[in-house]
Amino acid sequence: MAKSAQLENLLDALRRELGEDGLACDLAVEGRHVSEPRKRYRGQPLAVASPASVEAVSAVVRLCAGAGVAIVPQGGHTGLVGGAIAGPGELVLSLERLRRIRVLDTFDASVVVESGCTLAGLRQAAEDAGLLYPVSLASEGTATIGGTLATNAGGNLTIRYGNSREQVLGLEVVLADGRVWSDLDPLRKDNSGYDLKQLFIGSEGTLGIITAAALKLAPAPLQSVTALLASSNLHAGMALLKHLRAGLGECLSACEFMPRRALEFVLEDQPDQRDPFDCPYPWYVLVQADSALPGDNLEAASLSVFEQAIEAGLSREVVLANSLGQVNALWALREGISAAQKHGGVSLKHDISVPVARIPDFVDETLAALAQAVPGIRPCVFGHLGDGNLHFNLSQPENMDGDAFLSLEPVCNRIVFDQVRRYRGSIAAEHGIGQLRRDELARGQPLKVELMRRIKQALDPKGVFNPGKVL
Ligand SMILES: Cc1cc2nc3c(=O)[nH]c(=O)nc-3n(C[C@H](O)[C@H](O)[C@H](O)COP(=O)(O)OP(=O)(O)OC[C@H]3O[C@@H](n4cnc5c(N)ncnc54)[C@H](O)[C@@H]3O)c2cc1C
Repeated sequence: MAKSAQLENLLDALRRELGEDGLACDLAVEGRHVSEPRKRYRGQPLAVASPASVEAVSAVVRLCAGAGVAIVPQGGHTGLVGGAIAGPGELVLSLERLRRIRVLDTFDASVVVESGCTLAGLRQAAEDAGLLYPVSLASEGTATIGGTLATNAGGNLTIRYGNSREQVLGLEVVLADGRVWSDLDPLRKDNSGYDLKQLFIGSEGTLGIITAAALKLAPAPLQSVTALLASSNLHAGMALLKHLRAGLGECLSACEFMPRRALEFVLEDQPDQRDPFDCPYPWYVLVQADSALPGDNLEAASLSVFEQAIEAGLSREVVLANSLGQVNALWALREGISAAQKHGGVSLKHDISVPVARIPDFVDETLAALAQAVPGIRPCVFGHLGDGNLHFNLSQPENMDGDAFLSLEPVCNRIVFDQVRRYRGSIAAEHGIGQLRRDELARGQPLKVELMRRIKQALDPKGVFNPGKVL
């Protein structure tokens, strides 16, 4: 860490560069830059710098690199793995003032957007232009484009449109020596050498600072169907997914699943919500289908697919949303689960993925192993059935103290992550590695981590960007 006189000089230089508005040292009023939504981590940054131009980002990087002060890039700070938390003496570089949409080209169906623009802001701009930016997350009101690219965020529509990576045509990045690498031409074809943008996507701020991106836009849906299907067990749910894929083809935009326990938590948490069915079912599958073709044939086709599902015993009952209010109510059941889990006391959360077809066996086997290790443990496993991403959450047994359950986290993690490896899955499907899963990544994939270290050394030899995260 730099000495205090040097630090004072650095802060003076940053203030001159960014103006009084662009540098906050009084962190008592900067709580959102210091702690993330689950409050598992708390930062102790030297200051928060908020540059308003790419040139200013570049100047901050040059100054910090010269003074030996590490930089932690920060977007909306909605991440849940400690990735944007700054340690003592490190500078938070917030991208929130860099939020312009530079170009939105409706003919080319592309947009060049600065990284501090919120995901919701970009989705709205695309919708206003009759197009769709097809990444959607519960945190989209605050999460930024830079953050979603730095974590390769997935979301509800991944099954159809892919994760954030699939939307990217080009990037603008400030490198560790302050130079700006700009590759924002929205080209659909470019085989001129290594595809460098892929290195920065998902690198969680450890290789460079994303300041802007050229992104693809999709046609806006003109017809949409949302329904909740009740299912007896996950094996039937999986057969249902196969059936939906065959019947709805590329119109299938989302396929989410949740157990009865998740629905009960949400109903307790959202008193104005009601159970969509008259009787309880063990599992629920939330389906969204969209089409960019005009007309109303999607609803008729979907109804026929749902009826066949019931006849084949893949689903027991279906509730179709008949208004935007009902669509939102069904999605609120799914998106409210994480927050509602507090009604089950303390919980341990795992954001994992396994090959889609193996989800039921993975869940059955892993829950059996956990029940043996922690009798009475209450699983609440839900997520994106269509892309294999499970939020493998575990609530404390009813008769166990919360702290006692937390002390079992290493035991539970070991069971879950060993199973993930046995099933050839991923320990971090959506939220990234950050600090939370760094040691687990190194334990399970030492060669991968060694190669990643070499890339880090090549792009950031002095370790300016986000130390202690991912690696
Ligand atoms: C309620 C809720 C729901 C969520 N749902 C999902 C979900 O469905 N799918 C999903 O993938 N995630 C989800 N998340 C996690 C989180 O919202 C995403 O990871 C999101 O992409 C983070 O964006 P952000 O702008 O908040 O980034 P931050 O939290 O600020 O940062 C995340 C990481 O990216 C780095 N970073 C940020 N901006 C830049 C930049 N411009 N250049 C370089 N590095 C940068 C940071 O250093 C950090 O390592 C959810 C979180 C919450 C709280």
